[in-house]
Amino acid sequence: MTSGVSAPTATVVGGGPAGLMAAEVLAGHGVAVTVFEHMPSVGRKLLLAGRGGLNLTHSEDPASFLTRYGETADRLAPVLAAFDPEALRGWAAGLGEPTFVGSSGRVFPQSFRATPLLRAWLARLAELGVRIETRQRWVGFGADPTVVRVTGPDGDERSIAGDVVVLALGGASWPRVGSDGGWVEAVTAAGVEVAPLRAANVGVRVAWSPVFADRFQGVPLKYVTVQVAGSPPVSGDAMVTVTGLEGGPIYAIGVAIRDALDAAGSCALTVDLRPDRSTEQLAERLARRRPKDSTSTWLRRAIGLDAIAIGLLRECAGPDLPAQPDRMAALVKAVPVRIDATMPIGRAISTAGGIAWSEVDDTLMLRRLPGVFVAGEMLDWEAPTGGYLLQASFATGAAAGRGALTRLAS
Ligand SMILES: Cc1cc2nc3c(=O)[nH]c(=O)nc-3n(C[C@H](O)[C@H](O)[C@H](O)COP(=O)(O)OP(=O)(O)OC[C@H]3O[C@@H](n4cnc5c(N)ncnc54)[C@H](O)[C@@H]3O)c2cc1C
Repeated sequence: MTSGVSAPTATVVGGGPAGLMAAEVLAGHGVAVTVFEHMPSVGRKLLLAGRGGLNLTHSEDPASFLTRYGETADRLAPVLAAFDPEALRGWAAGLGEPTFVGSSGRVFPQSFRATPLLRAWLARLAELGVRIETRQRWVGFGADPTVVRVTGPDGDERSIAGDVVVLALGGASWPRVGSDGGWVEAVTAAGVEVAPLRAANVGVRVAWSPVFADRFQGVPLKYVTVQVAGSPPVSGDAMVTVTGLEGGPIYAIGVAIRDALDAAGSCALTVDLRPDRSTEQLAERLARRRPKDSTSTWLRRAIGLDAIAIGLLRECAGPDLPAQPDRMAALVKAVPVRIDATMPIGRAISTAGGIAWSEVDDTLMLRRLPGVFVAGEMLDWEAPTGGYLLQASFATGAAAGRGALTRLAS
């Protein structure tokens, strides 16, 4: 492709992990790539993801890994096989950011941060000749699908023609870092089916009493197991917030929570405060109550509950907790917490919904708009936290880049 008089051109819209990966693949094969990004700089959500430690991917075996993508695992399987966690780790190492596997199996760059990775990546893209135009908002397709319409800061609209287009505009969570879901209208208007964008990996609303919220906001419920009807039990730390609960185990059962809320408007969460002990074991320990012990002292001494766990029991079961060991044990194993809603999509870590898989072929090209490829969270897949989100974003970006190359070659 480098031998022609002028190189083929690709327009990439969206400067997140998916778009930049597509740009790298294309530019690495001699394509002249321009990335259009509406924020003042690219990769803002990647940087945000790096704040608490950039969890790039996960080290679990490929079969288990794939199950994390639920119903879309089949469509993502070839994409993830072509750019798997090892490939992602090799790519990061190639940028001077070797990775390590944390105790939970999650994979992080050794620096733990996104900033050095993004800096090195942008330097590589510049070397490959990728041009990045920021403050350019994609507003829709031109007469030809491979013509994109963008507006600059002054509101003036331009039409940019390319041989191929990759759209990677992200979902709709954390709009202040760029992905605001504003693309849905234009994509739908072009006849492409888009499943409604919804919050995924998101906290839930619980109507705590002011006393409980004041005392325990920001305090974790350490190593609990949570479950709703239709979900497997999931263990980990759940964080109490002023308005509800956050954290890995809550996110992990998010699909079942969403389904229950859709069906009934509220949802019953059960929290097991001592997943490491059976009801019988707890009852046996609780039977050894000393006459002078208050309820709190009893629960603390007999079964090791901390203040927040005891607070949750009172909050959800009322101030008069059972005095019988077996009844108390049963309550500790299944504290009922009523969920009223999920937090809004703007507060979510990721987005469910997006462009329907029936709309794209195996190269991630839109069937209705030949020459236009899509990647990243724009596509209709979801996964829990744990590195699965970035892995699929990078992998679909690489796949869209390869798909666009194939089209250019033909
Ligand atoms: C707080 C937080 C922490 C996270 N931590 C992790 C983690 O540790 N591990 C993990 O795997 N995932 C994590 N994620 C999720 C991960 O960051 C995303 O899944 C990933 O960034 C999605 O990549 P993308 O390229 O599809 O979209 P994005 O990263 O959202 O990129 C889309 C780009 O398109 C641009 N854009 C949008 N609309 C337009 C338009 N109209 N015109 C031009 N440009 C436009 C946006 O500005 C943005 O730059 C986290 C997310 C959040 C919010």
